[in-house]
Amino acid sequence: MTLKPIYFLTLISLTVSQDLTNYEGYKVYQVVPETLDQASLINKFQYDINFDFWTEIRLLNAPVDVMVAPLAQESFEAVLNTENIEYSTLIENVEETLQKRNRRRKRATVEAGNVTFTEFMRHEEILAYIDQVAADHADVASTEVIGKSFEGRDLTIIKISTGGSDKPIIYIEAAIHAREWISPPVALYIINQLVENPENSDMYQDVDWVILPVVNPDGYEYTHTDVRLWRKTRTPGTICYGVDANRNFDYQWMVTGASNWQCSETYAGHVAFSEVETRTVRDYLLANTPNVKLFLDLHSYGQWLLYPWAYTSDLVENIEELHSLGDRVNDAIYAVRGTNYTVGSSNAILYASSGGSRDWTKAVAGIDLGYTVELPRGGDSGFDPDASDILPVVTETWEGIKVFYE
Ligand SMILES: [Zn+2]
Repeated sequence: MTLKPIYFLTLISLTVSQDLTNYEGYKVYQVVPETLDQASLINKFQYDINFDFWTEIRLLNAPVDVMVAPLAQESFEAVLNTENIEYSTLIENVEETLQKRNRRRKRATVEAGNVTFTEFMRHEEILAYIDQVAADHADVASTEVIGKSFEGRDLTIIKISTGGSDKPIIYIEAAIHAREWISPPVALYIINQLVENPENSDMYQDVDWVILPVVNPDGYEYTHTDVRLWRKTRTPGTICYGVDANRNFDYQWMVTGASNWQCSETYAGHVAFSEVETRTVRDYLLANTPNVKLFLDLHSYGQWLLYPWAYTSDLVENIEELHSLGDRVNDAIYAVRGTNYTVGSSNAILYASSGGSRDWTKAVAGIDLGYTVELPRGGDSGFDPDASDILPVVTETWEGIKVFYE
């Protein structure tokens, strides 16, 4: 009798232990599809649990980075060789790269309420900073907790506004994907420049800015404390944790380019809006339409400026406006130090995905201008820019943000 509870506990701990936490022997390949046949062949691996696409297949001749589990490497290479698909090994052993990086990193502490662009800040530090900004600049900045994450962390927006109602809103969010560490600093730099640099005070006279620096704080913190390459939320499933929040929005949900398998990196959830984080974003945006005029979703990596649609190759009706604005943003970023983005629809010519926030904001929330910004890669893993690379990225991106504002 006394053994029963122990047995029961063991069973439970076994059922939630299939998430990948060690990357020993995992390789990252860079493959370059040159024909549609090659692209379609590579795309089939998207649905295989042994493959984690760090960047997506978007254009022919554009490199795609994919992490492959040890047991699948031989067969993957065989396919690439047979089909004459160009590839190279980007990372020989992901675990070793991560360990090396951990040994290198000695992180300076950030004083409460301060911001830094030479370290990656933790979620609590980010919240302390935006609260401090709101306290120091109460005439133009305020914070609001618009929801709680699954694990109970605050989902806090900062609003930058001179008051009045019915002004157009620029809404910016970051870190819906936990491991994309360069995205919160970009959001924080925008806040910093708007509120703490008087030169930019014009930018919020006629426009309100709403910024959610971390959409997925549970996942984001988990990448700091446990698994650096975690992408999803942290809701427990029966076997694996987490949902890809950017496949969880209820527009063309689970139609394409998303997985119904809970251990997949692109698991769309058991229903649309299963995640409290996506429901919170949904409710905030719906409560503020039609004032939200521009939606920016910050991701990494790959240097893409992507507008709808992701779920279909049909052209969005305001494609000319979206494309020319994207081009102008890219020109401004490029002028800083030559960083070049590719501008196009998410389903540029190749593969669709559905359930993303930006298709939903366009189709359901009626926000005409929306972009997914895939920021530059950095560091050994692509998701890991050196802390010293944060400032160059955030400053060049800021030049693009100014163009979005205009
Ligand atoms: Zn992402």
